[in-house]
Formats: sequence, structure tokens, C-alpha cells
Amino acid sequence: AMVATRASNERGAAQEVDVAVVGAGFAGLYLLHRLRKAGFKAVALDEAGDVGGTWYWNRYPGARCDIQTIDYSYTFDPELETAWTWSEKYATQPEILRYLGFVADRYDLRRDIRFKTKVTEARWDEGSERWLITTDNGAPVSCRHYIMATGCLSAPKPPEIEGVKDFKGEVYFTGRWPHDGVNLKDKRVAVIGTGSSAVQSIPLIAEQAAHLTVFQRTPNFALPAHNGPAPSDRMSLLQSDRAAYREQARQSMAGVPYPQQTVVSWQLSDAERRERFERAWAAGDLVHILTQLWADQAVDVDGNKIVQDLIREKIRAAVRDPETAAALMPDDHPFGAKRPCLDTNYYATYNRPNVTLVNLRQEPIKAITANGISTNGRSFDLDVIVFATGFDAMTGAIRAVHPIAGRGGKSLSDVWAQGPQTYLGLTVEGFPNFFMITGPGSPSVLSNMAVSIEQHVDWVVDRLAALRDAGFSTMEPTETAQAGWGRHMADCSMLTLHRLANTWYTGANVPGKVQGLMPYTGGVGPYRSICDEVVRSGMLGFKLT
Ligand code: FAD
Repeated sequence: AMVATRASNERGAAQEVDVAVVGAGFAGLYLLHRLRKAGFKAVALDEAGDVGGTWYWNRYPGARCDIQTIDYSYTFDPELETAWTWSEKYATQPEILRYLGFVADRYDLRRDIRFKTKVTEARWDEGSERWLITTDNGAPVSCRHYIMATGCLSAPKPPEIEGVKDFKGEVYFTGRWPHDGVNLKDKRVAVIGTGSSAVQSIPLIAEQAAHLTVFQRTPNFALPAHNGPAPSDRMSLLQSDRAAYREQARQSMAGVPYPQQTVVSWQLSDAERRERFERAWAAGDLVHILTQLWADQAVDVDGNKIVQDLIREKIRAAVRDPETAAALMPDDHPFGAKRPCLDTNYYATYNRPNVTLVNLRQEPIKAITANGISTNGRSFDLDVIVFATGFDAMTGAIRAVHPIAGRGGKSLSDVWAQGPQTYLGLTVEGFPNFFMITGPGSPSVLSNMAVSIEQHVDWVVDRLAALRDAGFSTMEPTETAQAGWGRHMADCSMLTLHRLANTWYTGANVPGKVQGLMPYTGGVGPYRSICDEVVRSGMLGFKLT
């Protein structure tokens, strides 16, 4: 009550709701819809000027999904599914943004969203058993439940290089691309980074720019997208029995309906392995090539190395200059332990006369100067620098709200000083009525996020409704349950090859970030069963009051 009174005096009366949602992307939109249907008064707040989240911010050339769009869609309403048709196998950012706008209109969601409103602090008030959410724009929000649907890849990483401010040319971030587009025609452009956003944008930037220089620290595996119409085999699977197709996705490992492989690599001959690989290469599907080759591809070093070698062979064949080809070949992580990229003309772009690859392992960047970038050995005059340097993944947007103060005023950042700890990736001990969608500890970024988001949202909203109907006002995990989830996470990750890679999954891309694999590697289907089992066992691991 004290906190509420102080804040109301300072900032005007708080907006009173049952549930506050931060974020109006894929997750926030569905939350709002479900919460309303469950009879809750809810508001969503987003820093952005409109709905869309990821697809609102990432407007760089070539931005697309890399999970086939028929899978990367909402599935909660069969009528919505038939009301919308995707034009391509991998839809572009503008099309996905239109889709999310269509969803917002269809369920009349915008009237409960406060745009251009950044959430800055959140404090639990023991007396009233409510959260008080402070914003940078307008009234604070007082709510019973506080849900962060703030995104796993929504906090762009600041540049780590000296001198950015001295550069006289234009500077852009793929994750904050200007809405009016950028004219790169006849300009000398640098792209820093070779992750998914870079791999998507580099071919299109190269077509416009006078010259493109790509600065690469770590090469990534990129697989052909073979974009075009949605493939007929997948479409007919979906259309012949939509409900079964969706259910299979929900029970699958990665949120896309593919069967579990049982044959291991050494049971296959060289020719059989190559045939499987070529089929996967031709399919142009990330999840296919990540899961359908052989059962040991993601869990055994030798089974994985066979895939790596086959992909490196493809890179060698695609890139004419042997030195460039060698620099583009990943050799420091197992295939799949770092998010692979989808390639539409990516490797081929390095055959263009106006494209140069700079291998930062051999010549690191020394500084950004007024005129460009200098490495140990060369300097590059530039008009434009594009940072495709990724995100402070999974925890960045959560920790940016500071403090999130739980019981006894404890701050989440302090509780997470040694890395994120959660129960089920959804809740944190000491933070009653606080929820995260696709938080650390959930399958999130290792899955088709659309499927994970729907599962998380359904679970959370169903729990809130059950809690209310049973006359409880708070829920919070126990310390034991949270520690147990941490151990289970660690056990599962030891079965995969993620332990052999330093990636944004482990926090390695952000200087000073605590290292540890953040997503749950046990798979989407098993995770769903665990969440359901917790409920069936009388909310095992939760304290209700
Ligand atoms: P987001 O879409 O990130 O939305 C979070 C929102 O919260 C943002 O709008 C942000 O402004 C807002 N927010 C954050 N903090 C605050 C705050 N403090 N105050 C107010 N607002 C705040 N996933 C896939 O499964 N398949 C794909 O093919 C795929 N492609 C991707 C391509 C790109 C370029 C990127 C960046 C990501 C991609 N992803 C993909 C992951 C993608 O982020 C998720 O699929 C999904 O869009 C996440 O939705 P969300 O609602 O959880 O978060």
C-alpha cells in the first residue's frame, strides 16, 4: 500500500487491472486475447508504436522468418487459420507484420494496448498483494499479475567497438531498422556480424551498395532456404488433417511436426547418409536438416561431425575464392549448437566483385574512425555501417526493467547475479504472480516460437483462472522446485552438444554476461507434458496463498 500511495502521488492515479502484460508481439497479443476471454481485465504495454514485436522492429532488407510460415502461425483458432493465407514458404517481415496487425484487428486487441510506453520498474507490494508497474509514458499500472512477454531477441546488443560515435557516416542496427527504409545505392557499406540477420540482409545490401565489406568474427552454418510457395507436401499434410498436424507439432521436439529419427549414423552407409543429407539440403528447411538426418546428429560428436563435413563441402563448392570459402566455414561449434541460418544467395554473394569478407579472427577491428573501420593491417573507407551484432538474448529485455522487486524488495537482477533461475522457465521464487513467456528455462529459442508461445500463454492463463476460481490470490514456486528445475535443465543439456559451443544461447555473445545455457533442451513435447503434470499433481512445486 505504501508503494502504491507514493507512486500515485508522484505520477497520478495508477491504472487498475487484473493483469499487466509487457509486450505486444506474438506473445503479448495472444495473452491479451486469452486473458480477456478468461474474464480478466488486462492491459498490454509496449515501447513500440504498434503491434508486432520482433516484426515491428526488424525491418532490415531480407528480414523473414526461418521456420516455414505455415508452422510459424497461431493455431488457437481454426477460423483464424483459414482466414489467412501466406504467400510464401518463408514470409517476409512486412507480411508477418500485416498478419499480426490482422490478428490485432480481428480480436480488437489494440484498445487495451498502450503503445510507445516503456515499462521501467516493477515492484511487488506485500500489503496489497499487487504489482506496481512504472512506465516512461503515462500512469503507472497496478495489477494482481505481471507477465513479461518482452521477447527473447528484443534487446539489441550495443556495439562493442571503440569509436562508433566518431564515425561521420550513417549507422544502422538491423534490430532497429528505420521504418522508411535506407537508401544504400552507390554507397560503401559495412556489415558487422554474420548471424541470421546478416545472412538475410547481406545479399540484398550487396545488390544495392557500391561496395559491401562484411566483418566476420564467427562463421555460421547457413542452409539453402529454397523459398517460394509453401511446399505442397507440407501443405497437403496440414490441409488433410489440420488438427492432427497441429497436435503433432505440439508434441514434437522443436515445435514442427517431424517424426523422431531412430536410425543412428553408423547404421547407415556413406551413400545412405549422403542421400539423406542431399534430401534435407534440397528441402530447404531448418528443422528438417536439424532433426531428420540421423538420431545421433545432435547428441553425439561423431554423428554431428559427419553433418558438418557435408555442409562445409557445400560451402566450398558455392564460394569461388578458396580463402574466402575457408573463412566462411564454421569449425568451432557442432552443427545445431548455434542457431544455423537460412541462405538465399548468401554464399553466392561472396562471388560478386563488389563484396569483400574480412576475417576478424585474422585481423581484428582496431577502431571505428571518422571515415570508416580500421583493422590490424587495413583501413576501410565507408559511408554506412550496419550492425548485425545480435541481441542480449533471453534475459536482456527482462533485466532492462530495473528493478523488478519481489518479496522483501529483492531485485531480480540480484537473484539472477549468477545466471537466470526459474521454475519451468515461467516463474521465479520470491516473485509471486510474476510470469515470463519464453523465459530462460523454457524451450523458447530452441523451438518454433509460435508453438512455445501458445503453450506458455495457455498454461499461464489457465493457472490464473484456476487460482482465481479457487479463491487464491498468489502463486509462487518453491525454492526446492526451482533448484530441481535447474538440475533437470543441466542434466538435459549434458545430453546435447550445446555444452560445446559458446553462443547467444549461453550468453557468450555479451561481454560480462554470466555463462550458461539458457533455453531448456528437453524438447517442446516433453516440456508440455511436464507443465501439465505439475498441474495434475496439484500444482507441484508451487505455493498458493
Ligand atoms: P517480441 O516479438 O520480441 O515482442 C516483445 C515486445 O516487448 C517488443 O515489441 C518490445 O518492444 C516489447 N518490450 C520489451 N521490453 C519492454 C519494456 N520494458 N517496456 C515496454 N515494452 C517492452 N522465431 C521463430 O520461431 N521462427 C522464426 O522464423 C523466427 N525468425 C526471427 C527473425 C528475426 C529477425 C528475429 C529477431 C527473431 C525471429 N524469431 C523467430 C524469434 C521471434 O522473436 C519470436 O518468434 C517471436 O516473434 C517473439 O514474440 P514475443 O511476443 O515473445 O516477443
